[in-house]
Amino acid sequence: MIIKFFNTLTHKEEALTPLDPKHLKMYVCGPTVYDRPHLGNARSIVVYDMLYRFFLLTFPQVTYVRNITDVDDKINAAAKEQGISIQELTKKITQFFYDDIKALNVLSPTVEPRATAHIPEMIVMIERLIAKNHAYVAQGHVLFDVASYKNYGALSNRNLDELIAGSRIEVASYKKNPLDFVLWKPADSEDDISSVFESPWGKGRPGWHIECSAMSSKYLGVDFDVHGGGADLQFPHHENEIAQSCCANEGSHFAHFWIHNGFLTVNGEKMSKSLKNFITVRDLLDKGVSGVVIRYLLLSTHYRKPFDFNQKALDDAEKSIEKFYAVLDESKLVAAKNKKPSAEILQCLADDLNISKATALLHEMVKKIKATNDQNTKDELAAALDFLGLADAKFFAKKDSSVDESYIEEQVNLRLKMKLEKNFAKADEIRQDLLAQGVVLEDISKEKTIWKIS
Ligand SMILES: [Zn+2]
Repeated sequence: MIIKFFNTLTHKEEALTPLDPKHLKMYVCGPTVYDRPHLGNARSIVVYDMLYRFFLLTFPQVTYVRNITDVDDKINAAAKEQGISIQELTKKITQFFYDDIKALNVLSPTVEPRATAHIPEMIVMIERLIAKNHAYVAQGHVLFDVASYKNYGALSNRNLDELIAGSRIEVASYKKNPLDFVLWKPADSEDDISSVFESPWGKGRPGWHIECSAMSSKYLGVDFDVHGGGADLQFPHHENEIAQSCCANEGSHFAHFWIHNGFLTVNGEKMSKSLKNFITVRDLLDKGVSGVVIRYLLLSTHYRKPFDFNQKALDDAEKSIEKFYAVLDESKLVAAKNKKPSAEILQCLADDLNISKATALLHEMVKKIKATNDQNTKDELAAALDFLGLADAKFFAKKDSSVDESYIEEQVNLRLKMKLEKNFAKADEIRQDLLAQGVVLEDISKEKTIWKIS
């Protein structure tokens, strides 16, 4: 199988071959736990979960690291605003994060490091950058000297001189260069004690970028295969991660393959609290939208393209999921648990995560099942749903309360046809399948069968 993805670093689609062919290593920037995950966060989480699921079936071993940023200016601000301690806030939001993504059938990563548990590793890395003249201390801050790294801007295709010339960043007096970014910042006297750490440069906390550099190298080594995250993180976050890691670990290339997912809009507009169109995963779950519908919706647009959330897209996603479940019964889904999907489905994902192509195949399967009640196709559909993280037995209960009459009629007619063709085994199979879905058949004559829900 040829595995091709778009590599942001080389700006083209290319074969993805792990450094160790038997062990793929991936790092993805996880949540900053100051607020409930919104749909943009969820898109990123679901996209990399799908990638992880694909890698698990493709390589003998996969290590997937997704961090939790639990020290950050935004966290300090949110805790202050809510009048609670930082620990209380990060604990609460981390739990919300787990609850919400669980509903989206997201698998746990192999390692989920928290930034506050890795401060010593960050300090060691910062010390190394200072020793190599890639960082400097100024007024209690430690800053990365961007001009000391000639490849700065390669990932986001930006030129360092142009960046400096076009920089609108408010320049702090202690910075040598407007683009220099913080590796360590001093604590404020008002700061909550749980966001204050001892360091050789005084009490303070790390910058956001250094967290990912330190945690990825600890769990994956200085060179690893895939780094993912939202397109909004490409610059400056990922650019800064590369600069720090490559400068601290001479000869290292850091991540060899960069994958970025596109933006999310709501009714064509950027999602923002000021526009009052800010939607969290919880908002939709509380409205009774199933997690698998949200997951399907978030995966339905190619991951690199912008995704627009709107009511029609949500309704369409719900209809699709209902169509898949209408032709299955629960036993098929149970039997499919952790069964490998067909090679055709896997091939779609190997092609730069082409999930639309995979879901088109699911709809083909539904058509085939409706026309022939083919059991193998049912098994295939169930295995594909399980693999894509779209398995949710609750849909069977939902189906019972909203009977898909046209599907039952089709199956009843197919059974009559089978009986006329003397294919009694097949006819009986259809009867059994409908019975498993709570539909009881009664033959009135050779040409007429009536049905009812038991
Ligand atoms: Zn990161």
